[in-house]
Amino acid sequence: MYEYEREELVKTLRLKGITDQRVLDAINSVERHLFIPDGIGFHAYKDTALPIGYRQTISQPYTVAIMTELLNVKENNKVLEIGTGSGYQAALLLHMGVKVYSIERNYEIYSRTQKLFDELSLRAALRCSDGTLGWEEYAPYDGIIVTAGSPDIPENLKKQLKIGGRLVIPVGDRRSQIMKLLTKIADDEFTIKEHPSFTFVPLIGKQGWKEGR
Ligand code: SAH
Repeated sequence: MYEYEREELVKTLRLKGITDQRVLDAINSVERHLFIPDGIGFHAYKDTALPIGYRQTISQPYTVAIMTELLNVKENNKVLEIGTGSGYQAALLLHMGVKVYSIERNYEIYSRTQKLFDELSLRAALRCSDGTLGWEEYAPYDGIIVTAGSPDIPENLKKQLKIGGRLVIPVGDRRSQIMKLLTKIADDEFTIKEHPSFTFVPLIGKQGWKEGR
């Protein structure tokens, strides 16, 4: 279903500058319409963010693509995702042969996505907790991807990265964020590259934004 629409989406992403063929292949294969609410499935292959309930969104495909490209994962890499949401980003990573650990703070979203993953036989470790603290048990990670906008880079996430590992995180105020790519070159030493602005829903937690707005 929607094969033609997916191919068109891939063409759009290519025109917008996504070049990593592994990312484009994953977007061509993973059925985004399965990750969004029933009634709006026909919007799934437009390059836009969509509501998934509880005031949260599934990110725009272009944003997902660029973050995945920056993460630059290899098969069998271990990746921690903060902000499971719909599970679409996690599903792309699984398709690329990555071992996925993903944290969602909202219990309703977490359980809905866990159920969907069971139905689709997608094997990722999902957990409901505050992702700003990371997931110590399986650290260190080859990559960490934060899919909500953060005021800062949470210290725990830096610590839980392997040497040589990459952290992709949108950092800024509540309205707009700059995409940062950190590469860990030694304990407590990182190179940082910045990419233009995006708008994400807020990362709320101990090392993120405070709840209540
Ligand atoms: N990767 C998702 C994007 C979801 S939007 C996808 O592919 O659909 C961001 C998600 O981050 C929301 O579901 C929100 O509830 C969650 N979130 C916000 N702060 C968080 C935190 N501290 N820990 C874990 N999840 C968080």
